[in-house]
Amino acid sequence: MERIVCGGNVLAADPEKTARYYKKQSPCGCSGCRNFYFQIKEKYPQLAALLEQFGADVLKPDETPWFEAEDHIEYFPYYTAAGRIETKGGEQFEIGDLCVDFIRPGDPSGNIPNNQSGPYFIIGIYGIKLPWAPNESFPAKEGPVPTEKL
Ligand SMILES: [Zn+2]
Repeated sequence: MERIVCGGNVLAADPEKTARYYKKQSPCGCSGCRNFYFQIKEKYPQLAALLEQFGADVLKPDETPWFEAEDHIEYFPYYTAAGRIETKGGEQFEIGDLCVDFIRPGDPSGNIPNNQSGPYFIIGIYGIKLPWAPNESFPAKEGPVPTEKL
């Protein structure tokens, strides 16, 4: 376990185990998620950097709720990380214009489909706004639901 201090929280994380999990994870193939994969690294580089510390892949959220607002799409993806939250510093903290929350399993705010068997915590991200990517077509297509375990 590696001790990571982030946004006032202290986490005991296992980035290598998390990275192995993400290698096996299949991303969702729906239109909204594909739009997310297409733009997220470029528009929110601070998010990929944050997740990398934990071994999580920004392109493979476990769950990516999204909805269409007037001229953009809002996303609030959840990522899984192996380890545990040792000290929770507060509710949420900001990186750039995003809000981040470390969520313990069983907490109602991180109630996402999940069948992990080892110790883990959830990284919830709020405030992502992306346009539909221009000149790209994103036909609706349902992707597989994550089934891998840590
Ligand atoms: Zn999707």
